[in-house]
Amino acid sequence: MVQELKIGIRFKSSEEESQNFWRALIQLLGEKNIPTALIDLSGKDLLFNAISCMQAENRQEVYQTAPRVNAEKCKFCGKCIDYCKHKVVSMQKGSGKILIEPELCTDCGKCYKGCSKKGAIKKHDYLVGLVEWTDRGENVRVFRVAFRKKWLLKKKGLPVLKKHIKGFEVKIYSFDANYCGKSIEKDMDFMFDIKGKEDGDTVLISVLNLMVD
Ligand code: SF4
Ligand code: SF4
Repeated sequence: MVQELKIGIRFKSSEEESQNFWRALIQLLGEKNIPTALIDLSGKDLLFNAISCMQAENRQEVYQTAPRVNAEKCKFCGKCIDYCKHKVVSMQKGSGKILIEPELCTDCGKCYKGCSKKGAIKKHDYLVGLVEWTDRGENVRVFRVAFRKKWLLKKKGLPVLKKHIKGFEVKIYSFDANYCGKSIEKDMDFMFDIKGKEDGDTVLISVLNLMVD
């Protein structure tokens, strides 16, 4: 058994086949005495759906600081829009409402300084993602990583995840490049593709073999 093993799986099969794979794997892992983290980076809740988990036992929320505009005090002059070079602040056509894209904010502070109306624009912590986990048996912990943007998942989600998967000898990731990008895959010791049931069975055996090598 290697000291630490990172396995990535790309699912190109139907959702049902993907879930069947996870159910079978979790059942087989239950017979082994190897602490294993199963991590869903597919953005499709494949793992949580496979274990019929609606509510995780544990969660860590991740926030992003960005401005929030108080419509009762705002003059809708648009100065904060001009000050922001990152296109965080914009004005809705027609209504004139100020819109905020918190994920893009670098917290540089220019928009607050540029606003002449006291209390119209203030810092606010926006919920942008979360890492949730739940245990299945003694040795298996199932994680879901959900973020509003791909780059935010890398920047803020993975450091949080890293803290919680520390100590697990085996980490098995469910990937979808459209959701989490390709760069995380490079960190894996082994990568597998599952395109259908047959692949699923073969990968299942390969994964279990890797865990006893
Ligand atoms: S600069 Fe201040 S008053 Fe003007 S639109 Fe922005 S928040 Fe409103
Ligand atoms: S703090 Fe900076 S980056 Fe964020 S909205 Fe204001 S001007 Fe834009």
